Amino acid sequence: LAAGAVALTLAACSGGRGGGDEAAEGENKGALVGIAMPTQQSERWIADGENVKKSLEKLGYKTDLQYANDDIPTQVSQIENMISKGAKALVIASIDGTTLTDVLETAKAQDIPVIAYDRLINGSPNVDYYTTFDNYQVGVQQATSLLTGMGVLTEDGKDNPDAKKEYNVELFAGSPDDNNAKFFWDGAIDTLQPYMDKGVIKVPSKQTEFEQAAILRWLPETAQKRMENLLQLDGDTKLDGVLSPYDGLSIGIISALTSGGYEKNALPTITGQDAEVGSVKSIIAGEQYSSIYKDTRALGDQAVKMVDAVLNGKEPEVNNTKDYDNGEKVVPSYLLDSVIVTKDNYQKILVDSGYYSEDDLK
Ligand code: BGC
Repeated sequence: LAAGAVALTLAACSGGRGGGDEAAEGENKGALVGIAMPTQQSERWIADGENVKKSLEKLGYKTDLQYANDDIPTQVSQIENMISKGAKALVIASIDGTTLTDVLETAKAQDIPVIAYDRLINGSPNVDYYTTFDNYQVGVQQATSLLTGMGVLTEDGKDNPDAKKEYNVELFAGSPDDNNAKFFWDGAIDTLQPYMDKGVIKVPSKQTEFEQAAILRWLPETAQKRMENLLQLDGDTKLDGVLSPYDGLSIGIISALTSGGYEKNALPTITGQDAEVGSVKSIIAGEQYSSIYKDTRALGDQAVKMVDAVLNGKEPEVNNTKDYDNGEKVVPSYLLDSVIVTKDNYQKILVDSGYYSEDDLK
């Protein structure tokens, strides 16, 4: 019986209590919830972990928050530990989406519901719910901002009558073991493809396959190396843009470009994701062009709502039951929206919303 079904049955028995904010009152009152996060190397995961922990504790739950330093065996043993400490639910942002099958069997055997956080867990039937951003749309936004930044499109998304005939662009993708990476790539490539077909966008290195563009574990230094190699391959060709799927990679790419002879104030249009502080500063300074803002507070809240619902015998709200097939099942999902951030709107999007203070960005 899936946890969803358990949830439904319990809700039916209890007469389906209304509301949604109250913490578990029955046997799961004050229960321990395990939160497994991938790494502290990137600000977003630190914020994610803290948000989820705080909101669960506000509802009276106990938490066990662990970071795995991007090491798969570490993440597996952290989750095993949570289970043996008596966790009643697990929230997991996986490192490699395919490596948790065994430990999730153990969770299943003890009826512990599993919420996949931001990244889908693949190859296991024991993933009950998933919350994330609309990852394909993130890729569309990255490519759209690349096109706008280079001047292929106008600010209002129309073909720019003053565009050049040709733009030279290099492409980067995320970690091949992260299910999101392919979604970002597909969204971006589907957006760029018509321009590549018309010859408006050229990829001088000819490296246009996901496998060629992918950066294992999202490592900035790997992106930097690849960009250095691409500059060698591209010779004298001047780049107009670089599609980068994550701010950390953009930082590595910018280092390679500046040491390869590009002036900081004349860099190609470079995209990103997560609106991390260092990269927002880079955007303000006119180096990186754009990032994608994903409000991790909202994602954390969503995950906490899911945990609280399942632990109260209710069915969590979902808004997508078709796109996230993990190879074993389509995981019921709740997708959030993301926003393109540039120098023009960062104030409104990031500061006015309270995500960052003015001081954070100084
Ligand atoms: C997340 C992105 C993040 C990337 C690298 C992805 O799974 O969805 O927000 O940029 O991992 O940490």
